Amino acid sequence: MPLTLLEKIWNRHVVVEEAGELLLHVDRALVHEGASHAFDKLVQEGRTIARPRQVFAFTDHYVPTSGRENGVAGIANAEIRNMVIQLQANAAKHGVTLFGIDDARQGILHIVPPEQGITQPGLLICGADSHTATHGAFGCLAFGIGASDMMHVMATQTLWQRRQQSMRVTLEGEPGFGVSPKDIILAIIAKIGVDGGTGHIIEYAGSTFRNMSMEGRMTVCNMSIEAGARAGMVAPDDTTYAYMQGRPYAPKGAQWDAAMAMWQALPTDEGAHFDREVAMQAADIAPMVTWGTNPQQGGPVTGLVPDPRDIKDAVTAQEVASAIDYQALAPGMALTDIRVDKVFIGSCTNGRIEDLRAAAAVARLGKAVVPAWVVAGSQPVKRQAEAEGLDTIFKNAGFEWREPGCSLCTAINGDQLRPGERCASTSNRNFKGRQGTGGRTHLVSPAMAAAAAIRGRLTDVRELLKAT
Ligand code: SF4
Repeated sequence: MPLTLLEKIWNRHVVVEEAGELLLHVDRALVHEGASHAFDKLVQEGRTIARPRQVFAFTDHYVPTSGRENGVAGIANAEIRNMVIQLQANAAKHGVTLFGIDDARQGILHIVPPEQGITQPGLLICGADSHTATHGAFGCLAFGIGASDMMHVMATQTLWQRRQQSMRVTLEGEPGFGVSPKDIILAIIAKIGVDGGTGHIIEYAGSTFRNMSMEGRMTVCNMSIEAGARAGMVAPDDTTYAYMQGRPYAPKGAQWDAAMAMWQALPTDEGAHFDREVAMQAADIAPMVTWGTNPQQGGPVTGLVPDPRDIKDAVTAQEVASAIDYQALAPGMALTDIRVDKVFIGSCTNGRIEDLRAAAAVARLGKAVVPAWVVAGSQPVKRQAEAEGLDTIFKNAGFEWREPGCSLCTAINGDQLRPGERCASTSNRNFKGRQGTGGRTHLVSPAMAAAAAIRGRLTDVRELLKAT
């Protein structure tokens, strides 16, 4: 019987099935400073970590993105400092590999594991953050879990899960000029909705994704959760293997050959059944921006803020009115008339080298007229960017070049918007207050963010690029 990529991974990981629930073997667990509750529960219940070598810890959510010269001791805010210290202590106590604040590999838990070869096709990966879906770009099943489940995973290396439904999003063709993977996933979410993937795991298929880099696939899978899906995935192929080969944790020699044999059998079989299918053409997608307070509330940058009076469904009209009110916009105004106070380029969605290259290609065309931050997703990304001279481009254009971490994506490290401030952001969530209480967020691609920094308003990046 033809099987999907998802079914093949489920089948390889089921330990036992009871009353419709599956006990699954978990290959990797990823934690960050916020996972202290999971460690506390472990100790309270007198448990130990079953396989410490399969658990990886990252300092990312709480680390400051400036003034890092003095390491942990240099973190001014005691509460934030303690979160970082707690993770260090828990990792040491339980024998878990830590990518700490002083580590040359430090970075976001969805950027470091692919860089290090920890993320591999066919694995089941659980992370203490919902954007763990990012890792599905390698053809593995990866999703976020809460503290109780993380404790269970650490104690047993297993997790109870209900079987999810499968959904295939097929995109064909080459994206147009100035259109990036971020625009593609924002367009998918705008089409299927923030609950379009609820109860499903999405496989992204078609020539658009086959021709996409691993960085782009990670951006797309990262935001699957914003469409309500438990996870997103792309079948592994030569692009995947080329990215992985030689990375520190990737298999070597005969083990690589054996792994390849398994990985090459993973892609969905011809004729396999999906519970839901969505088809789109890449050429129909334009650079996107969100105007509202969830990732579905967006559209092509050439469009207008919607007018709730034009929306027939009363509930949707009320949601749109509420979002427009919070965002302090006017119905019918052009998206390109929205002025911004700040720009953030970074996060696990768009903090990779390809993202910084795309942003720098625009930054070199002008000078930032509003504060603009560039926060690499990891130290290796930062070093690579510096080796390519991207930091110089950004600094010459008036952008701030900061240290790696989650930063303004979630605003819990002290980097945050002031009430009423408006930010063009490459992160993944534009919920009310996500970037700081009262802050307003517009999700965009890295190139669009750089364009907003130069123009001081949401801008169609194609105008800037065409002028060169
Ligand atoms: S960058 Fe944002 S979404 Fe990604 S791991 Fe950090 S807080 Fe979570």
